[in-house]
Amino acid sequence: MANSGQKVVLITGCSSGIGLRIAVTLAKDEKKRYHVIATMRDLKKKDKLLEAAGDTYGKTLMLLPLDVCSDESVKQCINNVKDRHIDILINNAGVGLLGPVESISIEEMKRVFETNFFGVVRMIKEVMPDMKKRRSGHIVVMSSVMGLQGVVFNDVYTASKFAMEGFCESMAVQLMKFNIRLSMIEPGPVHTEFETKMMEDVAKMEYPGVDADTVRYFKDVYLPSSIDIFEAMGQTPEDIAKCTKKVIE
Ligand code: NDP
Repeated sequence: MANSGQKVVLITGCSSGIGLRIAVTLAKDEKKRYHVIATMRDLKKKDKLLEAAGDTYGKTLMLLPLDVCSDESVKQCINNVKDRHIDILINNAGVGLLGPVESISIEEMKRVFETNFFGVVRMIKEVMPDMKKRRSGHIVVMSSVMGLQGVVFNDVYTASKFAMEGFCESMAVQLMKFNIRLSMIEPGPVHTEFETKMMEDVAKMEYPGVDADTVRYFKDVYLPSSIDIFEAMGQTPEDIAKCTKKVIE
């Protein structure tokens, strides 16, 4: 349970990458300012987080299951938080999708929107009434540079982040009246499993009906250059966790 003076922070998508690192960074805060509720959709994946969290587990860090694509899971998770009191919500869970649109099914596109857009909407809808009652709170959203700028072959991912940016910019105005802050973080490339998962999906991709020029451009030009950009410019999850900590301080 949170000590008085500690801020309750709930983070989505803590099984790996940026979410895991934010959870650990806040749980290890030298002044113990945060009571971290790290969530993940499959608690069987908790070992990596617990190993990194060390002795903070059970003290400044606790775990809850949460699938941001499920209304029921979102409700259950927030109901499991004492008095539904969350000071800071960090919407981090997200999925990527890469490739020519002709090769991607509408079902796959919906999965991206269901996670990256509706996942955030669901979370905000669930925590907002209690934050409004207390007239305090901070909602942080992990967007991307691709929430600001379209990038070839990232059409659907970019669209999901643009949608979320639009939603949050509009919400920020009404939340401000209740003293609730809304912050967006827009990282460039970050070395996490995100890229690996996308490349695994690309390896399985088929291109029936896609014109040869587009396939060649995707496979021979886009993919090698995007890997180079990741190598050269990629930040670490620690960088983004430090930045997130600054945003909520
Ligand atoms: P990871 O793939 O390492 O982490 C993504 C996390 O989201 C995982 O914990 C994953 O859980 C979780 N997740 C996916 N779907 C759901 C769901 N339905 N419910 C709950 N959790 C879910 O990638 P990153 O750490 O890089 O990504 C974190 C965020 O950062 C994303 O929103 C991403 O868009 C954003 N971002 C990433 C960049 C990058 O280059 N890596 C750049 C800019 C932004 P599970 O293990 O169960 O799949």
